[in-house]
Amino acid sequence: CRRFTNRKLKKLTNLPRNMIENSMFEEEPDVVDLTFPALDPDEVVYEPRSSRLLVRGLGENDMDEDDEDCESSARLLGMSFMNRSSAHRSSSFPYTRQAPPRSCSRPSARTTVVCVLFLVIVASMTMVLYFLPGCTFTKAGCRKTNKTTPFEPVYPLSTNGKLFPWAQFRLPRSVRPVNYDLTLNPDLNNMTFTGRTVITMSVLHNTKIIVLHSAHLNITKATFKVGLEGDVTVLEYQTRQQIAVQLSEEMKAGQSCVLTLDYSASLSHTYDGFYNSSYIDKEGNKRVLAATQFEPLSARKAFPCFDEPAFKATFLIKISRKSNYTTLSNMPQVKSTPLPNGLVQDEFEKTSVNMSTYLVAFIVADFTPISKNVSETLVSVYSVPEKKEHTDYALDTASKLLEFYNSFFEINYPLKKLDLVAIPDFLAGAMENWGLITFRETTLLVGNQSSPLEKQLVASVIAHELAHQWFGNLVTMSWWNDLWLNEGFATYMQYMSLQTVFPTLDIVSSNILRFRALDKDALNSSHAVSTEVNNPEQVEEMFDSVSYEKGASILMMLNTWLPGKQQFRKGIIQYLKQFSGLNTDTDDLWNSLTQVCMMRSWTSQKGFPLVTVSRQGGQVTLTQEHFLLTSDKATYTSSLWNIPVTYVTDNCSLGTLELPESVKWLKLNYRNTGFYIVHYGDEGWAALKDALSSNVQVLTQEDRASLIHNIFALSRLGRVSFYQVLNLLKYMSNETESCPVTEALLQLNVIYRLLDKRQEDSLVARMKPFKLHYILYRFGSLMDNQTWGEEESVSKQELRSALLGSACSLNQENCIQQAKALFKHYDESNGTSRIPGDLQQVVFTVAAQSNEDWLTLLHMYQTVTYDAEKRKMLRGLASTQDARRIVWILKAGLRGDIIQTQELPLVISTVCNGFAGYLFAWDFIQENWDRLIEKFPIGSYAIQTIIKSATSQFSTQAHLDRVQGFFSSLKERGSQMRSVQEALETIRLNQRWMDKNLPTLQKWL
Ligand SMILES: [Zn+2]
Repeated sequence: CRRFTNRKLKKLTNLPRNMIENSMFEEEPDVVDLTFPALDPDEVVYEPRSSRLLVRGLGENDMDEDDEDCESSARLLGMSFMNRSSAHRSSSFPYTRQAPPRSCSRPSARTTVVCVLFLVIVASMTMVLYFLPGCTFTKAGCRKTNKTTPFEPVYPLSTNGKLFPWAQFRLPRSVRPVNYDLTLNPDLNNMTFTGRTVITMSVLHNTKIIVLHSAHLNITKATFKVGLEGDVTVLEYQTRQQIAVQLSEEMKAGQSCVLTLDYSASLSHTYDGFYNSSYIDKEGNKRVLAATQFEPLSARKAFPCFDEPAFKATFLIKISRKSNYTTLSNMPQVKSTPLPNGLVQDEFEKTSVNMSTYLVAFIVADFTPISKNVSETLVSVYSVPEKKEHTDYALDTASKLLEFYNSFFEINYPLKKLDLVAIPDFLAGAMENWGLITFRETTLLVGNQSSPLEKQLVASVIAHELAHQWFGNLVTMSWWNDLWLNEGFATYMQYMSLQTVFPTLDIVSSNILRFRALDKDALNSSHAVSTEVNNPEQVEEMFDSVSYEKGASILMMLNTWLPGKQQFRKGIIQYLKQFSGLNTDTDDLWNSLTQVCMMRSWTSQKGFPLVTVSRQGGQVTLTQEHFLLTSDKATYTSSLWNIPVTYVTDNCSLGTLELPESVKWLKLNYRNTGFYIVHYGDEGWAALKDALSSNVQVLTQEDRASLIHNIFALSRLGRVSFYQVLNLLKYMSNETESCPVTEALLQLNVIYRLLDKRQEDSLVARMKPFKLHYILYRFGSLMDNQTWGEEESVSKQELRSALLGSACSLNQENCIQQAKALFKHYDESNGTSRIPGDLQQVVFTVAAQSNEDWLTLLHMYQTVTYDAEKRKMLRGLASTQDARRIVWILKAGLRGDIIQTQELPLVISTVCNGFAGYLFAWDFIQENWDRLIEKFPIGSYAIQTIIKSATSQFSTQAHLDRVQGFFSSLKERGSQMRSVQEALETIRLNQRWMDKNLPTLQKWL
């Protein structure tokens, strides 16, 4: 492959002068950057989509204030070409940069060369833009945030009838907490607690009021001290969970003051605040404990506080306990003092770091630890005593990852201890409280015999939470609108660190999650990565795949793009050092990485681009538009992204995207590292299909999976026919890797479930054999090749569980027999034999279809101690087609006795896969809505999952009307949620897809 040399550059001389002057060339460079001035969007002229448009004034616009800011992104209009890896090795992974090889001198059809173009749009020097009608072009990338104009406040009434002196959701900035002294006295017999909070504050601006948060706390005494100490009245406005102290005299900036509040409250019965949890021990006794979950808005339920992430302070915590319990908090314990009432008070070191309230944590329980020293830190894993033998893997993994992060970030973990604790009742996957990370039992505990797939889950969650100790805890987003700075980064680091530290865990499955984020972001109801957040529901809603997966994807895209092996890492180290202990917003990160303008186009607008490739002779033209599934009533926020385009062909490519005619195929978005979808046109798709049919190895499995995802998405958009989709899938008979197979089965399942849920339609009824025949025909031999014994390779386990899961759900005889035999053997062995971890789900699901075995499984579920297995049993139980059992399991999940309520979202989503269960689940949700939002906050990820599971398979007008009717009747109980908009939009899209494709499917059969 030839590098981009000066010979080629001559072609550029017809471009404006300063574009060339800005170029940075080297003799025989490995990477060549042509740096052009930024495209000022005001200079772009556009017309409706059917016409081609040229960019005018390229390189001629004057630099204004914004452009200076944008200078670094000027290269977006230039391009860089790198010769990348010339063969696919499983070790090359998008999260860890590969050094480009020095040359690839023997181009051949078998050599894959990846070139990277960094462009808004490139077409071998022809800038061609297509825009959709009606779209407004804003200055994507260099937009200044609009300041909202202040409004005249209307003060609400406090609980005592007096005017509450504050009328906003966000707290005033006039006072800042410096330190909290917290004393907590939980009573686990009565499920109550009392507390005293002493807050030392510093006054930033002259003020007569102090406003902070408090929720469900009964404040019994309040004193205030600025100079002299005296009693004060606390006003409460419950709607916003705020309390206020109004002073007779104004405090002056620079003064310091102390507010002391005594209060009592009940331990929470949900999963947030200071909540109670319990478990049944070996002797069958119920053991109670109390733990905390504060993110995002629940610290205020345990102690009065300035409960916003930007109000960082230090904390000194004291907790009383019975002598047979232990307590844990963020910091190491310094002393224990016996109290006159027979209890013991534990005191923890004052935090050595300033931290946000949502990261405070404490636990009162009878857990047992195992520990190990790592550098300067004592790492411990805690569990209920009988699960102690399941903690070794977590301790070992956490220790290795801590060492890795310490050296990767070049900043040592700042605390002397790090506890990882498995809590029996826990709603989220895990929570990164500083020094005291809490987990579900399933995400922390694995047995020695557990399968690598189960270890992969535990390692992923630990890697994610440990990354938060830097991204989130050390440097924190200023407000929840930038939650992605926490979650996108932790997700990115989770993949990256595992790839480096535990390469055998082979985490290509992260691609599948990225596809789901694309699917969500293709809806009009999606949101920008960084978006406005103005009420508690909106805060909860930020915990979604846009913050996590899209956030991680754009970081990965940037890492792939930045020249030099360490540039991305250096940028984030600089960011962490500069903002250590502080709060940031998205621009701070982009500034540290010197990529403000390019990256803003990915974080300030929703959605992502569809890149369309067209080839004419040797010339390739790329155009971009907003990939938006719903075009009616759509709001196009903007239409341009700065896309670092990568590509791979069957031959080496020359400098520009001008390919020799001999190049047969071209695949963009190499290894699926970019957050966009590509359409290759009829010929381009056909060429890719031909290439894969003759040899699947010409593309990596990530590339193959992304082709499958993209073509299904394009068929939903109406750009390719369903026939073309099936045509591409023909190559699947030769597919052997988990990522493409999983994606294909998942996409086909979406369609089959839609067909399944329209059984009243006679046309649909005739489609059922199609499902059976198509999958068995296409994947049959691959299914037959799967073994049923122990399997060590993670990727083979993933492949096997996806294939056998499908085969058994299609009632394939061999699969059913094998699964039944394994279950029988397991049942009869009385706990001595085990089912390989990756096969457990298939086996339990098959067993649950038989009347007798369902009961056996329920019994096993109630007695098994091993949590990963227990969860798979639950999914098996919920997959029953028996109506009475479906109703029972939904109710049991809500009651929380036999089935923990934290598992209800999983139960609902599993139940919804079946035809009968789907209708029951929808009725159940409507009937029990108020109880559901009592357990799970409005907008939370649990509620998002429940709504999506229950509605995403409807495809008729009647169902649309019912769903719309129900949610609009909820008013303030959830009608405004984004997931409701998403549900309605999805049903309309399903309807549209059905109308369009049912006749085609029928004809095709
Ligand atoms: Zn996280």
